[in-house]
Amino acid sequence: MTAQTAAYLDTLEPIVKDLIAPAAGEIDRTGTFPRAALEALGRAGLLGLVSATEVGGLGQGHRAASLVMERLARECASTSMVLCMHYAAAAVIEAHGPRALREDIAAGRHISSLAFSEAGSRSHFWAPVSTAAAVPGDGQVRLDAQKSWITSAGQVDSYVWSSRPLAADPATARGAGGASTIWLVPSRSAGLTVTAPFDGLGLRGNHSSPVRAEGVVVGRGAMLGQDGDGFNIMMSIVLPYFQFMSAGCCLGLMEAATAKAAAHVGGARLQHLGSSLADLPTVRAYVARMRIKTDLVRGLLLDALDALETGRADAMLRVLEVKAAAGEASTEVTELAMRVCGGAAFRKEVGVERHFRDARAATVMAPTTDVLYDFIGKAACGLPLF
Ligand SMILES: Cc1cc2nc3c(=O)[nH]c(=O)nc-3n(C[C@H](O)[C@H](O)[C@H](O)COP(=O)(O)OP(=O)(O)OC[C@H]3O[C@@H](n4cnc5c(N)ncnc54)[C@H](O)[C@@H]3O)c2cc1C
Repeated sequence: MTAQTAAYLDTLEPIVKDLIAPAAGEIDRTGTFPRAALEALGRAGLLGLVSATEVGGLGQGHRAASLVMERLARECASTSMVLCMHYAAAAVIEAHGPRALREDIAAGRHISSLAFSEAGSRSHFWAPVSTAAAVPGDGQVRLDAQKSWITSAGQVDSYVWSSRPLAADPATARGAGGASTIWLVPSRSAGLTVTAPFDGLGLRGNHSSPVRAEGVVVGRGAMLGQDGDGFNIMMSIVLPYFQFMSAGCCLGLMEAATAKAAAHVGGARLQHLGSSLADLPTVRAYVARMRIKTDLVRGLLLDALDALETGRADAMLRVLEVKAAAGEASTEVTELAMRVCGGAAFRKEVGVERHFRDARAATVMAPTTDVLYDFIGKAACGLPLF
């Protein structure tokens, strides 16, 4: 860590302690969107974490974003997921958006999210089937889509949105690594409808809902990057950010579950034996497995960040690996936490049950673990990814 990274974590800490941690249980119970947390993060400059300093941001990158995710997810993974999607969208806007919007994001005046997944192509976000069509005569564009999941749907100011290209050739636009175009869509555009409330197993405050677009009209200036360049933007900007931040979330969940489980087994007494659960070798071995898996993921995450930052030859492989490893490990570690804490965990007394539910998301969030296994296997075997 550098002095600068310590500074943004120092800024984050009181917000986490005073606001985010105390609200986490209520957010989970009621599905409330973490608005107060976002406002506090915005006031502190942390919504502009990955915005360039030239537009007033903190000028940070993947390392900072993943460390912030870890800290948040230890307390409230819903808040961490909302911020994850904002940072992923902000990174695209940083690269291709207008300066005024970049300044708004840096100042905490604009919050965004990613609108990639579609009912038609499901978790294959790289192959949108939704359309963009030029409106005859007036230089505007009509977007139609059935987006299947947008975190913070209806809550944020804009969506970074994928569609098939304007000049779509059906023969190429439906291929495995389908051609696509990225747009900035204001969330209050006419024709946009959040079609269902979010009622998920975990991350219950993240408001990931389906959104329908019927004849949504945007200007050509809403295009981020070039027509047909969406795949490149997804792979070069969004994928690394999302992989690292998702891994950071998983790490936070693992750290929280491991710490709570260890504290519980140390304190839970077997009065008739004059000992604690931690005196049972079986229980201690499970806690050891949790600790080892958590530390393995931290090691891989830090190595993957080093690989990316130094341009190491294995950087892309590490980027692919880090979310797959962290996602799977966090399901295992939180499941072990449920086991060693027994009925006290099942009845929510220890607080690991929320982490157990929250941890289930990463494995099915695109790119899903199984798709990553496919990519990593192809890379290991020298085959093209798409
Ligand atoms: C909490 C949450 C928040 C989300 N937020 C957003 C968001 O903000 N923006 C956004 O765009 N999306 C978001 N998503 C969507 C997410 O990225 C995935 O698109 C979605 O979870 C996939 O669900 P599905 O039912 O369509 O999966 P499906 O595609 O139906 O997958 C079902 C199963 O098939 C497997 N599978 C699919 N294809 C392959 C393959 N080629 N090889 C091997 N196995 C395969 C998958 O791994 C999975 O196990 C979010 C999802 C969740 C859970």
